[in-house]
Amino acid sequence: MIHDLIRYQLDTASSLPRENVLLVSLGCSWGKCTFCDYQDDRSSSVLACDTVNKKVLEQVKGAAAGVSCLDVTCSASYTELPFTTINYIRDVCRQSGITSVILEGHYIYRRSNPYFIDFFGSCGINVMFRCGVETFDEHIREDILRKGLPHITPEQLAEHYQWINLMYGMEGQSPDQLKQDIGIGLKYFRRINLSIYTTVPGGPARDDAGIRSFYDSGFYRSLKANPAVDIFDEWDHDNSHTVGHDDPSVSQ
Ligand code: SF4
Repeated sequence: MIHDLIRYQLDTASSLPRENVLLVSLGCSWGKCTFCDYQDDRSSSVLACDTVNKKVLEQVKGAAAGVSCLDVTCSASYTELPFTTINYIRDVCRQSGITSVILEGHYIYRRSNPYFIDFFGSCGINVMFRCGVETFDEHIREDILRKGLPHITPEQLAEHYQWINLMYGMEGQSPDQLKQDIGIGLKYFRRINLSIYTTVPGGPARDDAGIRSFYDSGFYRSLKANPAVDIFDEWDHDNSHTVGHDDPSVSQ
């Protein structure tokens, strides 16, 4: 089902100013992550995906907004967008002066990365790949979050991805583990997106006290000042949240 969401944002607060688009995919074929409600926002119809995605991409301004980077997320991986949508993305980059595109997806699709590099590179557009890792704590990541990266090392991830997503704020996570995750992330990758955990039905519980303590910490302030780290918090108290990017006003 395609949800009614805010699908376009201009982010000039990050050290990497960019336009963010949240597109509709054909569906996530992994589909097992216990914290994920993004995958509901999908359609098996290429036409339905393209219709929404084209409208979203028409909002991209590129050089006219003073940015040259487009950050593409969807309800699955970049490989699970219709190919026609991928074409629209490249077209809009060319037309608006975007020279760098970010594609986010699961590690299982890493072997397809060279194809995307060639496809966008043929028009002078650089690609950065971002992978959802969530944590380097193997037990939490695989037994609780069911992320699907069993025994995958940071070195292996870094062979294919320049940017990772981490997550903090669920019960069972600790400040020490977060520090370890950030340390590994900064060692092996160019950038980190740190998401503060939002509960989903049937998913792990949110650790509100732990999150408050994180926001009160010097570590949080140091991360806020680190240009390689973007922090996102999309929590809403009614818990009516279904998919990310639904209220940009609550980003930290
Ligand atoms: S987090 Fe990503 S890989 Fe996991 S189920 Fe959701 S869309 Fe699929």
